[in-house]
Amino acid sequence: MNKNNARIWLFCQSLLFGRRQCARVQAGTSEPIHITPTATSGVHVADRVPAFSSSSRVWNQAKSYRTASLLCIVIAAATALAQSNGQPASPQTLTTTLLRLNKQYQSAPAATKTQLLLQMEAIAVQRQQLLLQLMKSDPGQVLRYAVPGNVRADFPTQVEGAIEATQQATGVLQVLMEDRSDGARLHYGLKTASERLSLHFARIAPTNLLTGSRVRVQGVRVGNSLALDCCNSTTTTSSLQILSTVLPNTFRGQHTLVLLVNFQNNTSQPYTATFAANETFSKNSQFYEEMSYGQTWFTGNVAGWYKLPINSTCNLSTIASYANQAASKAGFSLSNYQRFVYAFPSIGCGWWGTAYIGGTQAFVSGSYRLAVLSHELGHLLGLYHSHALNCQPKVDTGTCSSIEYGDTLDMMGNPSDFEGGHFNAFQKERLGWLNYGSSPPILTVQSNGSYTIGPYEAQNGIAKALKIFRSKNSSTGQITWYYVEYRKAMGFDSFLSNYSEITNGVVLHLGTSSTPNSSDLLDLRPSTTSWMDVALDVGQSFKDPNTGTIIKVSGVTSSGATVQVTLGSGGN
Ligand SMILES: [Zn+2]
Repeated sequence: MNKNNARIWLFCQSLLFGRRQCARVQAGTSEPIHITPTATSGVHVADRVPAFSSSSRVWNQAKSYRTASLLCIVIAAATALAQSNGQPASPQTLTTTLLRLNKQYQSAPAATKTQLLLQMEAIAVQRQQLLLQLMKSDPGQVLRYAVPGNVRADFPTQVEGAIEATQQATGVLQVLMEDRSDGARLHYGLKTASERLSLHFARIAPTNLLTGSRVRVQGVRVGNSLALDCCNSTTTTSSLQILSTVLPNTFRGQHTLVLLVNFQNNTSQPYTATFAANETFSKNSQFYEEMSYGQTWFTGNVAGWYKLPINSTCNLSTIASYANQAASKAGFSLSNYQRFVYAFPSIGCGWWGTAYIGGTQAFVSGSYRLAVLSHELGHLLGLYHSHALNCQPKVDTGTCSSIEYGDTLDMMGNPSDFEGGHFNAFQKERLGWLNYGSSPPILTVQSNGSYTIGPYEAQNGIAKALKIFRSKNSSTGQITWYYVEYRKAMGFDSFLSNYSEITNGVVLHLGTSSTPNSSDLLDLRPSTTSWMDVALDVGQSFKDPNTGTIIKVSGVTSSGATVQVTLGSGGN
C-alpha cells in the first residue's frame, strides 16, 4: 500500500450480497476485478477473525458496514500482495511492506490507524506463514529476513506477536531419522522444560550429535520453530552449544553374567555362587539404582565355579576365552548378556580388579566385594577414576599434583569406607544420571545469585549440584567447571555420618567438558593433611584466583544447601 503506487480501493460485495467474494477496483479503472479469497488468505484471516469464517448468520453479526469492510480489506490486501504479477509473495516483499505500513501507522491520524493496523496484521500473519514454510525448505532465508528485536519492538502489540523473535533455549536434543521411500530425512527437535521446538539449520545439520545431548540454542523463532545459523557436520557455532553429551548404554537393566573360575594349579573357591549373586544383583544393583536415581540396575546370572584347563595366568583374554567356553558348554547363551565379570581366586597379578573403560569385560581377583565390583562396573559404564587435586598453598593454585584415586567421597576414587561413596556430579553427568533427560538437574550458574541444591543422595528431582565456570581452554574451547554438591549421610553415603565437616558444608570438584579423565576433588582446607575435611563450610567463601568468582555457603538444612555465587570477570 504505497502512496506512490496506484491507489487500490477495496470493498466487499459480499457485504451487500451475502457472497464470500471481494472485489478490487483500482483507481482510474472502471472495471471491478473479482477475487475469490484464496485458501491462504482466507485461512489466515478466518483464524484471527472467527466471525468471518462461516455462515450468513455470522455475517449478520457484523456490527457495522465499516467493520466488515475492514475485514474484507485485510483479505484483499493479503491476496493482492500474494498474487501481484502472478508471483507468490516473497519474504522480502512482505517484510518491506510490513515495515512501510508500520512507518505510515506511526504518523497516521487516528482515523486511519485502525485500517492500517488491520492491514499490518494480515501481512504479518501471511509473512509468518511464509517464514514457517521457509523454515523447512530454506531456513537461511528466515535468518536473512528476520526483523531485528529493536525494530520488532516498534510495531503495535497486536502485530508484534506475529513477528519472529530471537530466542535462546536450553534443553535435550532429539534427532529423528525418518526412513522414507524417497530417502532418509533427519528431523531435529529440542525438548525444553516447557515445550518442544523444531530446529532448522541454515547451513549443515550436525551429524555427530545423538538424541539426549543437552544443548543450548539461539536462533530466530517463528511459531514453534527455530532457525539456527549453524553448523557443519561435526562442529557447532554459538547458535548451538553442546552442554553435555552422555555415555551410551548407561540406563536401565545391565544384564550381566558373572563367571566364577579357577585353575588347574589353584582350585580354591573363596566364596559361593550364591554370595556372588547377592553381591552383584542385590547389593551392587541397589548401589547403581541409588547412584542413577532409579534409572540403572543390574540383572543377570552367575555361572560356575568352573575349573579352567589352564594354570593361572594374568592374561585377561586367555581367562575370558576359557571361561566363556566353560559357560557356553554349561548352557549359558553369552549373546544374552551386555556385561561380563570374570571372578577367580587371588592369583597375584598385582591388581584386585581391572576392566575395559566403556567395554564389556571386568575381572576380579580375590575378594568379591561391592568395593571392587561397583568400581569395575563403573569403568565398564565409561568412567575413569575420580582424582583429587593436591595443591599448596591454595585450593587449586600453586604447586599441584593429581592423586589418582584421591577422591575420598567417590567409589571411582578411594572412599574412606568401601561400602559406599556416590559418584560425583561430573561423573554422573557423563553417565546421564544428572542433567539429562528425566534425571535430576544440575544448575549452571550464569548470573550472580543465591542457589539452592538438595541433598545429593536424595532420590528426587531436586537440583543436585551447581556448575560454575572456572576456565576455558583457548585452543580446544573446553570449559573447566566447579561442581558444587551437598552431601549427606544417606544411603550409600551413610559412611559420612562420621564426617560432619563434609555434611555441614558443600564439596567442590573440578571437571572439564569432553575430557572424561578430568574429575578432581578439591581440598577447601589445604592447611590440613586430611582428605575428609575438604568441604566449604557454612559462612565460608572460596574465591577463584583466576576469575575472581566467589562461592559462599549461606546455610545448610536437612533439605538443602544455599550457595551464594558472585561471578568474577572471567565468568561466562
Ligand atoms: Zn579403577
